Amino acid sequence: MKVYLDNGATTKTAPEVVEAMLPYFSEKYGNASSLHSFGREAKEALDNAREIIAKKLNAFPEEIIFTSGGTESDNLAIKGIAYSHKDKGNHIITSQIEHPAVLGAYSVLEREGFQVTYIGVDKDGLIKLDQLEKAMTDKTILVSTMHANNEIGTIQDIKKIYEICKKKNVLFHTDGVQSFCKVDLDSSMADMISISAHKIHGPKGVGALYVNKKVKLGKLLHGGHQENDMRAGTENVAGIAGFGKAVEIYDNKNMCKLRDKLTSGLLKVDNTYLNGSKENRLCNNVNVRFSYVEGESILMKLNEKGIAVSTGSACSSKELQPSHVLTAIGLKPEEAHGSIRFTLSKYTTSEEIDYVLKVVPGIIKNLREMSPLGK
Ligand SMILES: *Cc1c(COP(=O)(O)O)cnc(C)c1O
Repeated sequence: MKVYLDNGATTKTAPEVVEAMLPYFSEKYGNASSLHSFGREAKEALDNAREIIAKKLNAFPEEIIFTSGGTESDNLAIKGIAYSHKDKGNHIITSQIEHPAVLGAYSVLEREGFQVTYIGVDKDGLIKLDQLEKAMTDKTILVSTMHANNEIGTIQDIKKIYEICKKKNVLFHTDGVQSFCKVDLDSSMADMISISAHKIHGPKGVGALYVNKKVKLGKLLHGGHQENDMRAGTENVAGIAGFGKAVEIYDNKNMCKLRDKLTSGLLKVDNTYLNGSKENRLCNNVNVRFSYVEGESILMKLNEKGIAVSTGSACSSKELQPSHVLTAIGLKPEEAHGSIRFTLSKYTTSEEIDYVLKVVPGIIKNLREMSPLGK
């Protein structure tokens, strides 16, 4: 049996999405900027997808900028504001548990002379709002904090964060890559929102940034006048058509129930704990730590049984550093190293969860017997 429980890293492209994309590789291969019928066909595909995504976010179509994915959207929002608002101030704020795309952009800006404050989180992974409020000065130009965390699934109260930002007249960007379509998320909750297709059964390499019309944003890519003159480069027409379809058909009806079944089953193994918030949590995320075992070893043993999971974040699974998210919620390095993330999708079945729950206890028992870490 093959069980894919790494949907936080990427998801299967839905067959309907593949089908929606195919014509744009074969007969409808025009460039959306061309004025002839081939171009118009491509432009129609972009307009249609833009309409669907704008509607989902309760935004105007011209407020949606298509990009190459969540990473580019995060970089565009953060660097775009930093560079275009430098004259107002050089202080920018984020949190300690952001995706590397956000932390990477902030660290570049920090090296370039921007002042950065990294807000801490509580044991559930919720941003300390009092710390955030206190950190803001009249030099602060941007706050960027994610909506739902990719490792532990914690959902932030971004409405409250946006309120705090508005009170201080500071722009707010949120990385909504993990939450988009899964949790209520719209233009009333942030000035800018990053989203990505491949986390919701769309294709890899396509995403979007919602930017409120009133926000003046600098560019990262210079060239043609595509995407409302905000992002140069011929659009990924097929990918964008697929993104639109993915949003249109997204559903997560059974995910919460299956998540709860997986969580309660895993927690029956002794010395096993849930990482992150029990209540404010994505429906597809289970992150648990098994004491006295290495996450890497669990991952390899599960892989032998056909089960795909990740240790902490997909991006850090090749590094030996404990996850920055797990250490920010207060775990010791050895606790972080014993943590495993299971992420479900709409294709996950109850039988698959049964299989995982049958296999995991034996793997943990065997590893603990061999482990130098004790028990
Ligand atoms: C996956 C992910 C990204 C990066 O998106 P890509 O489309 O893979 O570049 C950014 N933020 C979060 C929270 C993610 O989960």
